Amino acid sequence: MTTRFDLSGKTALVTGANTGLGQAIAIALAEAGAGIVAVGRSSMDETEAAIRSTGRSFRAVHADLSTLEPIERVISEAGESGRIDILVNNAGIIRRADAIEFSEGDWDAVMNVNLKSVFFLTQAVARRMLADGGGGKVINIASLLSFQGGIRIPSYTASKSGLAGLTRLLACEWAGKGINVNGIAPGYFVTNNTEALREDPDRNAQILGRIPAGRWGDPTDIGGAAVFLASSAADYIHGVILPVDGGWLAR
Ligand code: NAD
Repeated sequence: MTTRFDLSGKTALVTGANTGLGQAIAIALAEAGAGIVAVGRSSMDETEAAIRSTGRSFRAVHADLSTLEPIERVISEAGESGRIDILVNNAGIIRRADAIEFSEGDWDAVMNVNLKSVFFLTQAVARRMLADGGGGKVINIASLLSFQGGIRIPSYTASKSGLAGLTRLLACEWAGKGINVNGIAPGYFVTNNTEALREDPDRNAQILGRIPAGRWGDPTDIGGAAVFLASSAADYIHGVILPVDGGWLAR
């Protein structure tokens, strides 16, 4: 049965798809019918096996998104899989230290991957979407730190708050051109990104105690939101940041 959530015939470019939320999103999009172009700096073998088991196409494009240098090559190699219909900006990093002693290196590293490369990759993909005609979907993986301050992660909070603003700006510029730009704000999920928090018994207990759902998110909890925002069911949705957080922001 075809539904408005069906992504058959679409191609999705997902950054950081080798692990964690990016891998789960790539699998969910493939299960909904999309072919996957997985972009990242690490081996994509595990993701490739999972995508191929859904029967969808898979292409890996190796690129380190800490600089803008690979972006044109990424677009060119991704283009060999045909039109890019969906872009998921998922690759991201976090650096932890008290604000009072936070280094310029940790500021720049996080801003470059989480915000600067996201903007210029999105610009390059959108140019291609507009040239090909037919619009597209951009999904930015934001954070609870797009809404809240947090502690000990100043560049991460700045990058994810900036990403929420950028999502709204791009939505305003491109809504009339058929490109939907939205975001997903994951709550606290079990991935590499949160390993340090989960290993700290006090922080782990504080976080768990505040999540109405009473558990950390599993990467499989994120896919439905991505499929929805990538689908024609979301054609009239522009510039939202959809929390998938077990109720954290509702509290
Ligand atoms: P993760 O560390 O498991 O995955 C991060 C991904 O980004 C990896 O695939 C990694 O290879 C890729 N990446 C990092 N730097 C890169 C670079 N320079 N070039 C190319 N790829 C690079 O963590 P995750 O939790 O799966 O994170 C995915 C996204 O979700 C990130 O943007 C993160 O900020 C966001 N997020 C995660 C949580 C959580 O609880 N896990 C919460 C909110 C937001």
